Amino acid sequence: VQFELDIVEDAIRREAAAAADALIPVAAEADDSSVIHGGVLDVLRRSRLCDLVVPTEYGGRFERVNPVAVALVREQLMYQSCAADLLFVMQGIGSYALSLAGAEEVRRRWLPRVARLEAIAAFCLSEDGAGSDAKAMTTSIVEIGGQLVINGEKTFISNGGAADIYTVIGREGDGFSMALVPAATNGLVTSPTPELIAPHVLGTVRFDDVQVPVTHRIGAPGRGFDLTLSTLTCFRVSVGAAAVGLGQAALDEMVRHASTREQFGRPISRLGPVAQMIARAWAEVESARLLAYRAATIARDRPEEALPYASMAKVEGTEMASRVVDLGMQVMGRWGLIRGSRMERLYRASRPMRIYEGATEVLRMGISRALCDASTTPDRLLRS
Ligand SMILES: Cc1cc2nc3c(=O)[nH]c(=O)nc-3n(C[C@H](O)[C@H](O)[C@H](O)COP(=O)(O)OP(=O)(O)OC[C@H]3O[C@@H](n4cnc5c(N)ncnc54)[C@H](O)[C@@H]3O)c2cc1C
Repeated sequence: VQFELDIVEDAIRREAAAAADALIPVAAEADDSSVIHGGVLDVLRRSRLCDLVVPTEYGGRFERVNPVAVALVREQLMYQSCAADLLFVMQGIGSYALSLAGAEEVRRRWLPRVARLEAIAAFCLSEDGAGSDAKAMTTSIVEIGGQLVINGEKTFISNGGAADIYTVIGREGDGFSMALVPAATNGLVTSPTPELIAPHVLGTVRFDDVQVPVTHRIGAPGRGFDLTLSTLTCFRVSVGAAAVGLGQAALDEMVRHASTREQFGRPISRLGPVAQMIARAWAEVESARLLAYRAATIARDRPEEALPYASMAKVEGTEMASRVVDLGMQVMGRWGLIRGSRMERLYRASRPMRIYEGATEVLRMGISRALCDASTTPDRLLRS
């Protein structure tokens, strides 16, 4: 068995599908906006789906975050709206380290609000000089007299400027540490990033002698990258599922158009090359879906083995989404090129997915290393 949904997970899939349907009236406007859209916020708050990204003890639904549940929700939300998908997943990415290793008092203060979507979360890793090479970062964290003092600038931060809490990674001595910084802290200043081809809630977050009590440290000093890796293992797999949702939307749009558009006296779906494109697209979406849920199941049951599978699901899902949307554009002819049309939105939305949370080429290096590294047994990886 490669993956199976239990009854609870299947119910979550249906809940998420209902929330996605409720997004239909606002999706186009929200996806064209680089600020958080009130309509999307309302639908997500009412859906209570964000309680899936926080542990039960702090107002969440599961004892620990279930990557299959997160994947199911992202597939459904992304089918309708990339803004809704982003808002949902950043609540998890921006708070997961706090759930794992924050001080009790800080967890109690923020996590229930994250679960209810009353506090918005963000995750600050990238800097202008530190993208794929995240360890090139220059942001610093220093402990002085019971305070953590943070200096540096994080760029292209999802929810930057909109968030209530920022999980920040910085250099501390020879290692990297993590801290939670509430948005209202003195010295934290945000500014917008340039508009992307697919609008996204993004900002630059500057820390000028920002001070937070040492209780805002997340995890032990020097362990910031371990927590980053745990966060990525849990959530990277869900980028693959979100890409499946996007690919499915493109496939459905392509099929709708090809079945109704007539040329040469029949629907274009009957023209050989168009039928070939549709068949290819369907198989691509289904293959990526299988991989995404297989990887999510491994992340749920054996998180210590999940990283290469999570990376594979992310790479193959996002590459698939780009190929399928491109096929969709071709099938739609001039109608797919119209600005604001569903296919054009999907075309733009699919592109950044191959870059953020690990560019395809970078992740493929890691996948290859996991298989070839002498310390892992390829047999075990292949048969797991
Ligand atoms: C929409 C969006 C949202 C984002 N949100 C966040 C966020 O919330 N928090 C955050 O911290 N960051 C965020 N980022 C930043 C994101 O994580 C970086 O864009 C990503 O890590 C890639 O870094 P880069 O863009 O600087 O590309 P670079 O590192 O400059 O890489 C450019 C290209 O070089 C190639 N390359 C680089 N290194 C290697 C390598 N070692 N092996 C093989 N090929 C390589 C790849 O093809 C890659 O695409 C976001 C970015 C986008 C676009």
